[in-house]
Amino acid sequence: MRYCKKCIMPDTRPEQVFDENDICDACHSAEKKYNEIDWTKRKQELGEILDRYRNKDGTWWDCIVPVSGGKNSCFQAYTLKYEFGMNPLLVNHIPCEITEVGLKNLTFLRDLGFDMIQVGANRQMYRKMARKGFFDLGDSCWPEHIGIFTAPIRVAVQYKIPLIMWGENSQFELGGPASRRENNFLDRSWLEEFQMYGYRISDLYDEGFDKKDLLFFEYPSDEELKEVGVTGLFLGYYIKWENAEQVKMMKKLGWSPNPDGPVEEAYHDYENLDCKWIGGLHDHFKFLKYGFSRATDQLCEEIRSGRMDREEALRIVRNYEGKLPRKYLPDFLKYLNCTEEEFFATLDRFTNRKIFLTDENNEFIRDKDGNLIKRDYGYTETEQNTIEV
Ligand SMILES: [Zn+2]
Repeated sequence: MRYCKKCIMPDTRPEQVFDENDICDACHSAEKKYNEIDWTKRKQELGEILDRYRNKDGTWWDCIVPVSGGKNSCFQAYTLKYEFGMNPLLVNHIPCEITEVGLKNLTFLRDLGFDMIQVGANRQMYRKMARKGFFDLGDSCWPEHIGIFTAPIRVAVQYKIPLIMWGENSQFELGGPASRRENNFLDRSWLEEFQMYGYRISDLYDEGFDKKDLLFFEYPSDEELKEVGVTGLFLGYYIKWENAEQVKMMKKLGWSPNPDGPVEEAYHDYENLDCKWIGGLHDHFKFLKYGFSRATDQLCEEIRSGRMDREEALRIVRNYEGKLPRKYLPDFLKYLNCTEEEFFATLDRFTNRKIFLTDENNEFIRDKDGNLIKRDYGYTETEQNTIEV
């Protein structure tokens, strides 16, 4: 594994590009974000766009904001309404298994003065898709990852509200193909490329899924999109995306972080709160597949924004990620109707053997708590040798 010399992102991250000096493209984006981009101009540009979509006589909503109740979506909604005077309609795609804090934050949004539509897909089919996601794709939240992108677009078409405001552009903030990094819009090809592992919903028809059960997961047709003129923009293209500031602002307004501290696999207590499987389990899969997890993403942002130095981040990242998520494990087994043996065998099946230590029989070596050990943590030799097996 190679690690970026500026942050701690390994080159195993899909789509990540390293330059000839071993600097990742997310670090290059951060330089642009903090030093080059004229944010005043971008904000002005946004104001002009919003004016074009504004419903001046108050007879309808003038844009859609997809919300999970997470701090990002709350910030998006709040900014559009209270800074730009828009009247957004919020669309929430109900996750696999909503958490208490997730529910609380959705209520918080309505208390803040927003109308909301909740889209809840048929749970029998949802569970079937979650099983497919877990066993075949190593993504416990697969239906959720599709639905959060299709449901708002469906609502946009049905309600004839052309403008959808998404949050940050993850390719810009976290790294991705150059052609996508500076994009300010999201479309069907983005969805299929980055969220669906190259799958199309129609591929599921051949696997025993009934077309009529998957309506919320179908991306509207080109004709439907064209008729309404649906346009999806990233707010993060127009407004400097600063998580720490946004969290502070949302907390002041009454938004709740995770009640028991950092979410499993994370360093912060403010991301991936809404679904029981997304915080720990989904992010643990990422660790098994790529050797890093949510804490690495969050610590990289700490470094790029100048709040932490690289050595400190390297030193602490192991304390936050790579541990088997236990909090909702019993609930998950029950949800999928799967045994603990099947569960662990599936995790092992998706674990990248090039990243983790194995013995002479090609079995994984684990530390005293049963967690896997990476071959390379980006430490110096001596530090690496201190890990207890
Ligand atoms: Zn980097």
